Amino acid sequence: MVDLRKQYLNIQDELDQAVLECIRSTAYINGPKVKAFQANLESYLGVKHVIPCANGTDALQVALMALGLKAGDEVIVPTFTYVATAEVIGLLGLTPIMVDVDKDTFNVTAELIEEVITPKTKAIVPVNLFGQSADIESIMELADKYGLHVIEDNAQAIGADYTLKNGQQQKAGTIGHIGCTSFYPSKNLGAYGDGGAMFTNDDDLAAKLRKTANHGQSKRYYHDCIGVNSRLDAVQAAILDIKLKYLDDYAEARQAVAAHYDQAFANIDALQIPVRQANSTHVFHQYTLQVLNGKRDELKAYLQEHNIPSMVYYPVPLNEQEAFKAILTQPNLSFPVTEKLCKTVISLPIHTEMDKEQLEYITTKVVEFFK
Ligand SMILES: *Cc1c(COP(=O)(O)O)cnc(C)c1O
Repeated sequence: MVDLRKQYLNIQDELDQAVLECIRSTAYINGPKVKAFQANLESYLGVKHVIPCANGTDALQVALMALGLKAGDEVIVPTFTYVATAEVIGLLGLTPIMVDVDKDTFNVTAELIEEVITPKTKAIVPVNLFGQSADIESIMELADKYGLHVIEDNAQAIGADYTLKNGQQQKAGTIGHIGCTSFYPSKNLGAYGDGGAMFTNDDDLAAKLRKTANHGQSKRYYHDCIGVNSRLDAVQAAILDIKLKYLDDYAEARQAVAAHYDQAFANIDALQIPVRQANSTHVFHQYTLQVLNGKRDELKAYLQEHNIPSMVYYPVPLNEQEAFKAILTQPNLSFPVTEKLCKTVISLPIHTEMDKEQLEYITTKVVEFFK
């Protein structure tokens, strides 16, 4: 699905040097590499505070902890997402309230969220799925109306641009009260191991996030609250700081692959190409098609026979996962869009180093399948 080796070889000298420097410096924890990456990511995102942490799941957990939510508080989350988004809600004893997603963009909408708001609702965790921002401005308006917090799960959309109603652009993940991201190797900004970060423009929240990620400590050996130990490794920060410089080029490379796929598949009636969200650019963490003639699994097997990897993100709605059955409180759970998407979606290889030959081969085989 991705070619991390080729990407590494293209910037090997720079990366090798940065990693060696970091090892030789012996500043392995919260050293200058972490500070430098934090500052550079803040300026890239145009956000006041970046708080690095150990992975994207921790980012979501620490964000929820910093809001001071109590057991039984309800947190709204899409049922079509990676497990981590909802898992941390359950882990903290909060109640996940699941919502369906838009059939075209796969993202939650303010309308769908508003239907499930109750007096117990405390937060919303929209996901900017597959590389484009959900309509976060509308979700923020809703949050203002009901006094809720918004934590954006931006693990898949770092670098995407969101256009506000006043025409101004902001980076995806920086519009909610807190944004969370992951630097898992295959993410658009990927480390060579685990990593994550939270972003916010709110000074108070930033202090709480930083404290929560560091054993609830504001001053060394003085612990104000129960926290966790979640740090971004210095070696990973050194790698990420270099890759950040290429993030926009990487997004362009992914967009070019998507444009090629779009064109090749535009006339296949049984395929729905990715629908763009009106107010966001798409950085194509995934290129996800919908197979409308019931032959998704056949297509997947056919591609595999021809040595073309493909993935189904996601095969099971979260509400149908064993893990959530015990904690879901919604009486008549039914999410028709998610249920349909789980049976129709397929993601094709997309990465920053794809060449014409690979693309031609993949598109030819897909077109052949539908002939
Ligand atoms: C990758 C991902 C996460 C979790 O990130 P990790 O760094 O693997 O913990 C959370 N949410 C979404 C939507 C993701 O894609």
